[in-house]
Amino acid sequence: MKKIEGRRQEAEGRRQEIEVRRQEAGGRRQEAGGRRQKAGGSAHEKISLPCMKVGSSQFPIPNSQFPIPNFQFPIPYLQLATAIFLGFWISGCDLTNTNQNSNDDRPNVVATSTIIKDLTEQVGGDEIELTGILQPGADPHVYEPVPADSQALEAADLILYNGYNLEPGLIKQINTAGVNAHKFAVGEVVTPLDFDYQGTKQPDPHVWGDAKNAIKMVNSIRDQLIALSPENEAEFSQNAARLNEELQQLDSWITQQIQTIPPQQRQLVTTHDAFQYYSRAYGLTVTGTLIGISTEEQPSARTVKSLADAIKATKVPAIFAETTINPDLIKTVAQEAGVKLAPEELYSDSIGAVGSDGDTYVKMLVANTRTIVEALGGDFTGFEVINLTANSKFLHSKFLHSPCIGGKPIPSLDGRDSRPPLCLALLTMLCRALLTMLRIRKCCLLFVICFS
Ligand SMILES: [Zn+2]
Repeated sequence: MKKIEGRRQEAEGRRQEIEVRRQEAGGRRQEAGGRRQKAGGSAHEKISLPCMKVGSSQFPIPNSQFPIPNFQFPIPYLQLATAIFLGFWISGCDLTNTNQNSNDDRPNVVATSTIIKDLTEQVGGDEIELTGILQPGADPHVYEPVPADSQALEAADLILYNGYNLEPGLIKQINTAGVNAHKFAVGEVVTPLDFDYQGTKQPDPHVWGDAKNAIKMVNSIRDQLIALSPENEAEFSQNAARLNEELQQLDSWITQQIQTIPPQQRQLVTTHDAFQYYSRAYGLTVTGTLIGISTEEQPSARTVKSLADAIKATKVPAIFAETTINPDLIKTVAQEAGVKLAPEELYSDSIGAVGSDGDTYVKMLVANTRTIVEALGGDFTGFEVINLTANSKFLHSKFLHSPCIGGKPIPSLDGRDSRPPLCLALLTMLCRALLTMLRIRKCCLLFVICFS
């Protein structure tokens, strides 16, 4: 019995021990539950705050619709960003307006012929607003103005034209009552060669054939531009000095090139009489022309025959067509005389189209000289501008786009490195970055408006 009683007491002790452990485990669970409850309460606080803001009137976007759950927009930073972008916007608009105003302030210059336009462009650079009336390849002798020409002439501050009746239709228009701009005949600063026309002496307008005459024209253009815009005198003078230096080199170079032609072959036969100044300056003889000074004339059958006879008698190796005149008649003369027509046409009264080998005045004279020298049996060497002492950023940039004149490369002007200095390159990069920011400002502002 004592043994049974002992076992009962032992079992009762284990139950009490188990009950104690159960109570201890329950206390730990309550403690863990309390910690979870405490932790859960903190998490809920963190989550509930943005939900309240998102659902508020300040931020009327349902939390479930936003791609990032429980995301909170930093309102003060958003306002700051808006202010910054608006600042960029406003300052950008002001900068643009300033540039437009400065461009509008430039004097408005109109040039009639392509040759005068090119010389004026090189002297005036970016300081003038320049409009050319005649297009490359157009014939000034027979050009009739169109309404757009009248508008350009009436809006001009200064009109530069050749004169000596080169462009009779335009000169008539320039002298109408509606055109009040200052007018200046650039070609008439040259003492002209005369020719007979119906029994009277008339000035030959093709004065640009001699590069020394072009220097006089450049000087007159410079003086006209200075009178128009005195604040740019230094730049105009610098540009003109550099161009004149180049023209002096061109003048010497043409003389040397023509001298490579055998003396008995230094004869010129062209369609119209536009090369008297060139021939006299550089040692050629004008053996004959199909028509006279003006292309308004029409050659007769008798004229064609007499010219062909003269070509046979003088044994010139080649005759020349011109870019501004239909070449059919001069081809007929060549066939009748049994002489070669030069493969390239001469630029007579106009420079060439952009991209051609005669798209500036200088290149036009170089191209003509090459055509003449090669057709008449000379030995052509390309023209290179060297050691220019006068400086001009405008001409320099222009030459970087046309590094080859007459088939020979021009590595650099006056031996200088054409690359910009490092500080200028960095400044350029900074400006480009700012421009990029201004371009994207609209996108940024749109983004801000959408989410605020
Ligand atoms: Zn002409």
